Amino acid sequence: MKIQAFRVVKTEQGFERQIVEQDSAELPAGDLLIEVHYSSLNYKDALSATGNPGVTRNFPHTPGIDAAGKVLASEVDEFAPGDDVIVIGFDLGMNTPGGFAERIRIPAGWAVKLPAGLTLHASMLLGTAGFTAAECVDKLEAHGMTPDAGPVLVTGATGGVGSVAVKLLSHLGYDVAAVTGKPEQHEFLKSLGAGEILSREQAAEGGSKPLLGERWGGVVDTVGGTILANGVKSLRYGCSLAACGLVGGTDIPLTVLPFLLRNVNVLGIDSVELPLPEKARIWSKLADQWRVDLTSLEQSLRLGDLSDAIDRILAGRMVGRGVVHLH
Ligand code: NDP
Repeated sequence: MKIQAFRVVKTEQGFERQIVEQDSAELPAGDLLIEVHYSSLNYKDALSATGNPGVTRNFPHTPGIDAAGKVLASEVDEFAPGDDVIVIGFDLGMNTPGGFAERIRIPAGWAVKLPAGLTLHASMLLGTAGFTAAECVDKLEAHGMTPDAGPVLVTGATGGVGSVAVKLLSHLGYDVAAVTGKPEQHEFLKSLGAGEILSREQAAEGGSKPLLGERWGGVVDTVGGTILANGVKSLRYGCSLAACGLVGGTDIPLTVLPFLLRNVNVLGIDSVELPLPEKARIWSKLADQWRVDLTSLEQSLRLGDLSDAIDRILAGRMVGRGVVHLH
């Protein structure tokens, strides 16, 4: 069976992006053959497409860390042909051919059955980015965050993780403050539920001080660097920051003082290797009490649109969620 795929090829000139037709028999061995209906574009896909060795080492390669679709063939009892499934993380789209193709073949241990309450399309409107936003909120609440604890700061707010975090937190009754580098998107952020908007420059002010005024009852940080550090320095006593991203840098210019004097926490967030039962639990929440309408976030993409969208996400110009329609 011939399938269309978005491929990244390593050449002497660098990494080239192509739409190719390939035989699905070339897919790696695995328990589940899945017809991909939707994928989504994440920052990590852009890193893969530009040859970042921390994400993908072997080329030619099909990126796409997310996929949602129907099982066509199963070698395990847990899944049957016709089942709707979501696959995010693990090695999909890293060194295993990913969701930017009409079919994938994967180990059964990577797939979650689509919970009632979500459609395949809605699951990819969330995708890894939206799932990660939910994982941040879930972990912050497990560490005591409540709407009464104070406003919650979301950084990189117009991006995939950030925009879903703003929407979800607002849905759950939190006062949300959003950091963005895009002045033209203030109205968009307000429409998602942000009550206060800070520029990236404001969020980085006071970077040389060991502590800042206590403001936030929680922080969802997608950018790292000075903005993450300032988030920690301005947490209220006993509150927490969830650190999930690095678009602004990997260093954290911070002293131990916020931890010793304010009893605050930095919570690590990984959506890739998160054990499957935990993934299923968070997907179930997103299908039920955390179900939010993300229609206004969608940027609808076909395989042929991906190259431009990858350039946009690398330039920090992406707004909302890129959903790849394959079927
Ligand atoms: P996006 O590119 O969609 O969003 C990132 C946003 O960050 C941009 O839209 C922009 O928003 C802001 N930004 C961009 N460049 C800078 C900069 N130099 N300094 C400060 N802010 C900047 O990416 P995603 O939302 O998909 O991912 C965000 C981060 O989270 C990435 O680092 C990604 O790798 C990571 N991630 C981690 C996961 C995990 O499991 N830990 C899972 C998913 C994502 P604005 O203009 O509004 O400021």
